[in-house]
Amino acid sequence: MTAFADLRVYNTLTGRVEKFVPLYGKRVFMFVCGPTVYDYSHIGHGRVFTFFDTVARYLRWAGYSLFYLVNITDVDDKIINRAKEEGMHPLKLARKYESFYYEDMESLNVTSVNLYARASDYLPEIWDQIRVLLEKGHAYETETGVYFDITTFPDYGKLSKQKIEELRVHRIEPDPTKRNPGDFALWRKRPKDEFGWESPWGYGRPGWHIEDTAITIKHFGKQYDIHGGAIELAFPHHEAEIAQAESYTGVKPFVKYWIHIGLLTIKGEKMSKSLGNIIRIRDVVQEYGPEPVRLLLISSFYRSPMDFRWELLDQARSSYQRIKTAYDNLYDLEVNSEVGNAEVELLNKVKDLRDRFFRSLADNFNTPEALANLYELIRLTNAYVSEVGEISEQGKGILLSTFNEMLSVLGIRVERAVDSVMLKSLVQLLLEVRSQLRQRRMYELSDEIRGRLRDLGIELQDTPQGTKWRIIR
Ligand SMILES: [Zn+2]
Repeated sequence: MTAFADLRVYNTLTGRVEKFVPLYGKRVFMFVCGPTVYDYSHIGHGRVFTFFDTVARYLRWAGYSLFYLVNITDVDDKIINRAKEEGMHPLKLARKYESFYYEDMESLNVTSVNLYARASDYLPEIWDQIRVLLEKGHAYETETGVYFDITTFPDYGKLSKQKIEELRVHRIEPDPTKRNPGDFALWRKRPKDEFGWESPWGYGRPGWHIEDTAITIKHFGKQYDIHGGAIELAFPHHEAEIAQAESYTGVKPFVKYWIHIGLLTIKGEKMSKSLGNIIRIRDVVQEYGPEPVRLLLISSFYRSPMDFRWELLDQARSSYQRIKTAYDNLYDLEVNSEVGNAEVELLNKVKDLRDRFFRSLADNFNTPEALANLYELIRLTNAYVSEVGEISEQGKGILLSTFNEMLSVLGIRVERAVDSVMLKSLVQLLLEVRSQLRQRRMYELSDEIRGRLRDLGIELQDTPQGTKWRIIR
């Protein structure tokens, strides 16, 4: 399989596009920083996770055996503050938003993750790493916590391309007991009335960065292939992970390929609570349906910044409609027994487009180019359907499977709901009930049925010939 051998990815660590060569043959280990579960997920999260879901789908399509791991940060100040506001135990609040996160991911067809790992389940691994880092002299204890001394790790800064001298004085997590302003916490000592655990260094909570290395070293070992996340996490979060892991294991590099996603802005501004411009996944999915949202999120190159505007969602909705219509037309295309010249010509072009589609993905996951090939396939199919109007059984099979293959790697679902005999009968039944209600002048109830069906994506139209219906998404 050539596409498999040809995969090239941009690696933040080396600053280059490189040939993808996994550490353990065809087995690939990928970890992506998951959500801090204190609120609903927004479309910035949507961008990151639909992209890596597409990467996972592509890797599996290309024949790799992938273990895809995502962490759930369920211990964090934001969770604790929010829990106080809502009068709830922090872990209970975290579970609540964790389940909303899964709902959002499912709606976007993000289904490729093998394991979601909660930080709070890895305390023994976290303590083991802190103990070793202290023993090796990379960490020190003060009255406020245990900190990593960045001057003991000369590579600190290599991922985000910064000099350690500058980072040594760069202020993070301000605390007067630290040796360098750039040192980060491994363990934070907290008062006993706060949520936390008893540890060898007193009561408190782990620092943020240590959960990722505790989880990944536990499941993947000392080294693994791909670490992904939003570009904002490269420093200090990912830099800190490298320092912890490589100091703990003594093995370099901890991660072979670092893949970062560009920032998502809203009309040119960063999404933030204070600006009040946070757009939740579930709200856009509710309004536009999940597929247009996913289509939009993968329509720009992953490393580029993406500026969200509502018009783009309108466009994505009509693009999705085009995909669906072409698929439906192909599905309904008349089958004949002979293979005509036009069909041979079409299938040759389709084979070429399929190759180009997968080559685009192998070329550093160029999803916009892959989509352009898909749209070209649609244009050709539509032209064929309207000009020729019939196809051989085998030709139809090839076209449909090519469509299915491309769409499933991109994670775009096309359900042919109208096909279902059951659905048709159910809608017919509701139409009859509604017509009876109208005859009895129970308009309120009849309108409610119409409204509820609309919410489900079925539009009714009352005409002199009776009520007609169609699927609108
Ligand atoms: Zn992380």
